[in-house]
Amino acid sequence: MKKIFCLICIPLFCVTPSEKKYLSSWEHSKLIESLTCKIDTPLDERKIKTKAISYGKSQKGKNLVAYIVRPEKGAEPVQNVYLIAAQHGDERNSKVVLDYFLREVRLLSRDFQNNHRILVIPLYNPDGYSRRNRLALNKTDLNRDFPTDDAGAENPKALETEAFLSLMRKYPPKVIFNLHQPFRVVLPNKGSDSYGKEFATLSDYPLGHGVGYPTPGSLGTWAAENEIQIVTVEMSRSMRKAMAPFIYEEVRLALFNAAFGCIPRPAHRSRLEKYLDERE
Ligand SMILES: [Zn+2]
Repeated sequence: MKKIFCLICIPLFCVTPSEKKYLSSWEHSKLIESLTCKIDTPLDERKIKTKAISYGKSQKGKNLVAYIVRPEKGAEPVQNVYLIAAQHGDERNSKVVLDYFLREVRLLSRDFQNNHRILVIPLYNPDGYSRRNRLALNKTDLNRDFPTDDAGAENPKALETEAFLSLMRKYPPKVIFNLHQPFRVVLPNKGSDSYGKEFATLSDYPLGHGVGYPTPGSLGTWAAENEIQIVTVEMSRSMRKAMAPFIYEEVRLALFNAAFGCIPRPAHRSRLEKYLDERE
């Protein structure tokens, strides 16, 4: 096997550009075209609806909400794709990114529904988010609270984790995309490389290899132990709300491709100017 040398080593990640091809503009648009959903004339009268479900309560009693795009009727086999954000309550723009994403999904024709059930959780940790704090109540790090082999026997400690585990029992994940900030790198778990590479190529974020420190009880470790594919996406640094449209712009096509398994043609068009105009 080819030995991969780490070209850029920062304290947490080793980024190996050799593993990811950076594309010219022409190559990038060719890639987008090749990943575009094969639906030429979608009927626009009926738009995709997202169904909001409360899958539990936070420790402070706030609703934990997942927005679900149903699979097309009769589609088999259904694949459950999760997009989650703000596991850490201070990574606020990860939530805004999924809010923008949901707005655009609702502009799409229902003809784009396929065999994916898309579960979007923009605000995984509402208690931390309202306090602008990484942790949930009782200082629980929700990305260290999963019942993994390397974690304490007391996991899960938080209601948020129990609720998410029970949602995953109901809708077993094919793949999870877990959005964080601020390291600007795509980190697929072992076995999730193709999802990770595609996300990195479409977003132009570097592709990295696991964090360089132990993360006992993380969702990533739990997913690996349960043979679920998972990609942690560390988005750009800025936590300022004003930067959210720019951060969304970086990952928009990668998110559509992750969720639908292809890029709906209407999503090619950026709405960046609209979001910039909306800012107060
Ligand atoms: Zn985080």
